[in-house]
Amino acid sequence: MFHWLNVSMTRKISGLSFVLLSFLFVVIVYSAYQSQRIYTEMHEVAEIDVPLSEVISDMEMLQLKQHLLMESIRQQGDAFFTDASLRANSIKGFDEFSAQLATQLDKATEILRTGLGFGSVRIQLIDHQALMQQINLLHQHRMNFDRLADAFLAQEKQAFANVWAELEQQDEALDTQADELLKKIDQLTMNVSATVENQERHFVTMNVILGLSAFAIGTYLTLYIIISFRKRIWSLRGQIDSLHRSIDVEHDNSLIRYKGLDEFDELETDLKALVRQFSAEMNNRDEVETQLLELATRDKLTGAFNRHKWDEQVKAELALANRGHHFSVILLDVDHFKKINDTQGHDVGDNVLRLLVNTLRKRLRETDILCRVGGEEFAILLKDTHLAEAAMLAEQLRHSVETLKIADIPHFTISLGVTDYQDTDDQTRVIKRADILLYEAKGAGRNRVMAG
Ligand code: GH3
Ligand code: MG
Ligand code: MG
Repeated sequence: MFHWLNVSMTRKISGLSFVLLSFLFVVIVYSAYQSQRIYTEMHEVAEIDVPLSEVISDMEMLQLKQHLLMESIRQQGDAFFTDASLRANSIKGFDEFSAQLATQLDKATEILRTGLGFGSVRIQLIDHQALMQQINLLHQHRMNFDRLADAFLAQEKQAFANVWAELEQQDEALDTQADELLKKIDQLTMNVSATVENQERHFVTMNVILGLSAFAIGTYLTLYIIISFRKRIWSLRGQIDSLHRSIDVEHDNSLIRYKGLDEFDELETDLKALVRQFSAEMNNRDEVETQLLELATRDKLTGAFNRHKWDEQVKAELALANRGHHFSVILLDVDHFKKINDTQGHDVGDNVLRLLVNTLRKRLRETDILCRVGGEEFAILLKDTHLAEAAMLAEQLRHSVETLKIADIPHFTISLGVTDYQDTDDQTRVIKRADILLYEAKGAGRNRVMAG
C-alpha cells in the first residue's frame, strides 16, 4: 500500500481502473453464475414441482370420485346384487378409477424420473427420491385395491361383508397414502421455493456488498488521486509564484490568480505567465548587458569608443595582420583646443568634441573603429586598408572638419598622423609612429595630414 503511494500518477490511475474493473468483473461473473443457478431452480420448480402438484390435485379429484362410488354402493345395499346394470356401472367406475389413478401415478413417476434422470433436480434431491418411493408404494396400494375391487365385484351377497370391509380398509389406506404423498409434495414445493428465495436473497445481498465495496474503494481511490493531484498542483503553483516574485524583486507582487476551467488550466496559465516573465526578464538582461558593454567600451561624452576598446581592437588587428591582413591607423588632435575652452567655455569645448565625432563618423565605414584616446585626441583603426587609401581618407576628414559651419560652434581644425602596419610592428610601435607623424603635422603648422 505504501509502495503504491510512491508510484507515478499514470500508474495510480491504471491501478485504480484495474481494481474497479476487477470488481466489476467479479460482480458480472457472480451475477451470471447466480442468475444461471436461479434459472435452473426456477426451471426445476416449473418442470417438476408444479406439474407434480397438478398430478396430485388430479389424484385428489379421483379419490373424491372413488369415495362417491363407494358411498353409492353402500347405499344401494341389496339392490346392488340384484340389479345387474348397477353392478356393471360400479365395475366401470372402479375400472376407470384404477386406470386414471394408474395414469396419474405413471405421470408423476415419469416427471420425477425425467427430473432425476437428467440431473435437473438439485434442490432436495433426497426428498425427491423419497417421493418416488412413495409413488411406487401408492402404485402397490392401487393394485391391491384393484384386486380387492375385482374380488368384491365377483362375490355373492353372503361373502359381501368381509370383502367390503377389506375393500374399505384398502380404500382408506390408499387415501392416507395419497394424502401423505400430497403433503410431502406440498412440503417439498415449499422447501424448494424457500431455497430459491434464499438463493435470491443471498444473490442480492452479495451483489449489494460487492457493489458497495467497489463503490467505497473507487470513491476512496478517486478521492485520494484527486486530493494528491490538487496538492501537487497547488504546491507547483506556489513554487511558480515564489519564482515569479524572485524574478520580479522590485515589485514584490504575486502572480495574479487566474480562475480557470480546472486546476490544470490554471497551472498552464501560471506557467505561461512565468515563461512570459522569464523571456521579458531575459530580454531585459540582454539590454542591460548591452548597456553595460556600451558603458565599458564607449566614451560618455562623444559616443566614440574608449581607450580600452582601442587597445583591444589594435591587439586583435595585429594578430590578424600576422596572418596576412593589413590595417592602417589615423591619430588626430584638435588644433588649439585649449584656446576654444578658454575663450568659449568648457561646454562649447565639449560640443566641439561631439561635433567632431559626428563629422568623422559620416565619412567612416562600418568597419572603421573611432576611439577617443585622450582629451581631444582621437584614433581611427582602418581594417583592410593600405597607407595611400588611409591618407586619402584622413585628408577627407581634415577637409570635412575645416569646412564645417555650425551656429554656436567656433571654427576649428584638426591635425592627423597616418601610418599603416609594418611587419615588425607591435602595439606601441605602430601608435608611436602615428603619434610622431601627428606631432610633425602640428609642427608643420597644423590643419594637415602627415602620412608615413
Ligand atoms: P595643440 O594644437 O597643440 O593640440 O594645442 P591644444 O590647445 O589643443 O593642446 P593642449 O594639450 O594644450 O590642450 C588640450 C586641452 O583640452 C586641455 C584640456 O583642458 C582640454 N580638454 C581635455 N579634455 C576635455 C574635455 O573633455 N572637454 C573639454 N571641453 N576640454 C577638454
Ligand atoms: Mg590639441
Ligand atoms: Mg592634445
